[in-house]
Amino acid sequence: MDISPELIRILREARRVAALTGAGISAESGLRTFRDAQTGHWAQYRPEELATPGAFRRNPKLVWDWYAMRRGRVAEVEPNPGHYALVEMAQHVPHFTLVTQNVDGLHVQAGSRDVIELHGNIQRVKCFDGCGVVETWEETDDVPRCSSCGAYLRPDVVWFGESLPFGALESAVEAARACDVFFSIGTSGVVQPAASLAYEAKNRGAVVVEINLEPTPLSGKAEFALHGKSGDVLPALIKRAWG
Ligand code: NAD
Ligand code: ZN
Repeated sequence: MDISPELIRILREARRVAALTGAGISAESGLRTFRDAQTGHWAQYRPEELATPGAFRRNPKLVWDWYAMRRGRVAEVEPNPGHYALVEMAQHVPHFTLVTQNVDGLHVQAGSRDVIELHGNIQRVKCFDGCGVVETWEETDDVPRCSSCGAYLRPDVVWFGESLPFGALESAVEAARACDVFFSIGTSGVVQPAASLAYEAKNRGAVVVEINLEPTPLSGKAEFALHGKSGDVLPALIKRAWG
């Protein structure tokens, strides 16, 4: 793999590193992207028809069942070498911030701490009325009710048209602006506002490193664009820098 010695030097000297991950980092665990996941019974629906507050209001059971299916897939898989490499990176860099768009919880499962989960976590549920109750997901046939106010419980993820969890974006932007090196890993870079983080970092002078199977809109702007699987590239990078 072609990793420039310049990148290794920059990484070794970096005080602050931030990384943003997307669905691509979980691909090698066997989790497919939104659209690929729509098979069988679910192929007749578009994610936009299921992942919205309106869809849940109209048919809570349908949305609940879809998330139960997706959560079932998450429960069957394990973190991969890409997730573990980021756990290791945090041990070598003085200040490391991990930001993810994934809802699968695999970074936390791998051992990463203080992960900023911009889009929530599919392992949790919260009160649809917003009374503040958040719980661990439990498998039920009927949509469960909030123990505090009686409203439905819903997945604790960010749906289309919803704002991000309070403080999550602010912390992510802060980390992007303060870092020396910013990694964009396995993300197509089209979903806002996450996609803007790399530019926040670049505008403040950070070195931007992209790791993706293929070129994205960010590639031309990144100082280093490494094309390959994150499960191969990240461990190789760690080994070269600190191995
Ligand atoms: P995306 O599906 O738009 O893009 C995935 C990117 O990963 C692509 O650019 C692809 O080339 C790249 N990729 C695929 N396999 C890779 C690999 N092995 N190594 C490196 N790169 C690889 O994903 P996104 O940018 O995260 O945006 C999609 C939205 O869908 C997000 O908002 C996210 O919350 C949601 N989502 C989450 C999950 C999850 O939690 N695992 C899964 C699907 C969708
Ligand atoms: Zn409630």
